[in-house]
Amino acid sequence: MKKRIISVIAIVALVAMSGCQSTAEGQVEHAVAEEEETQNESSIENQEGQESEGTESEEEAVDEHSTAELEDSQQSNVDYSYEVNPENFTVEPLTEEAESQVALLTFDDAPDGNAVEMAEILKEHDAPAIFFVNGMYLESEEGKEKLKKIHEMGYEIGNHTYTHPTLTDISEEQQREEIVKVNDLVEEITGERPRFFRAPHGLNTDYTKRVAEEEDMVLMNWTYGYDWEPEYQEPGALADIMVNTAYLNDGANLLMHDREWTKEALDGIITGLREKGYTLVDPDLIYSPNKGGQAE
Ligand SMILES: [Zn+2]
Repeated sequence: MKKRIISVIAIVALVAMSGCQSTAEGQVEHAVAEEEETQNESSIENQEGQESEGTESEEEAVDEHSTAELEDSQQSNVDYSYEVNPENFTVEPLTEEAESQVALLTFDDAPDGNAVEMAEILKEHDAPAIFFVNGMYLESEEGKEKLKKIHEMGYEIGNHTYTHPTLTDISEEQQREEIVKVNDLVEEITGERPRFFRAPHGLNTDYTKRVAEEEDMVLMNWTYGYDWEPEYQEPGALADIMVNTAYLNDGANLLMHDREWTKEALDGIITGLREKGYTLVDPDLIYSPNKGGQAE
């Protein structure tokens, strides 16, 4: 069953590399195109260029490696029931029993002005989520306290780099520092190293992929998000599009940010997704090679 999924992924990857666009790939590009501040056409081309530069044999080697690790983790009986599809970043069941109609809530650029209140709203709804944090927000005592609170409330902490650079524009040494320093800092504050990595603008390099792998992190972009678009910087419009977009499908990986209008839209987003029959997936159930040192 798992082997079949992996080979389907490999086929999709090959088709995508040959220039024929799958829906999933188009969707990710759509989302990437709209991610955050000043994403522009040329950096999307950069990303595509980089992706197609990777040789097929390298890609396959990575796939085989992660398959082997999945099998290892099952042998050691770690209870994961979902995994992140590395091609389109949807969250997919690993077991027959795991429900497939799920959505994952994620919040980037945290913890800035709204993350703690957002975690409290999520908590009221018993809604799990991942907060992707930047090291620059964790230097002050106040920032450290915010992170501690969010972590103690049970929210997964992901790595979103130290200063939010475009990773494709900086040296390998800087790329490593941007990633590893955040893991060190988060571990120092919470006692756990992040298990998921989300590059700013979704732009990884072969080198950042390698660093994430060395750090036992799973790469996680997203499937859709809207809260950086001017017309959705308003809670009503944002809640509506997040729930009613055509991109909402099984395993949807929702990108949001530490922003006031997003905080105000949260209640409507959570309620709307659940009314449509979606279970908000617990990041604890999503596979990573090493569960923050807690495996076994
Ligand atoms: Zn960001």
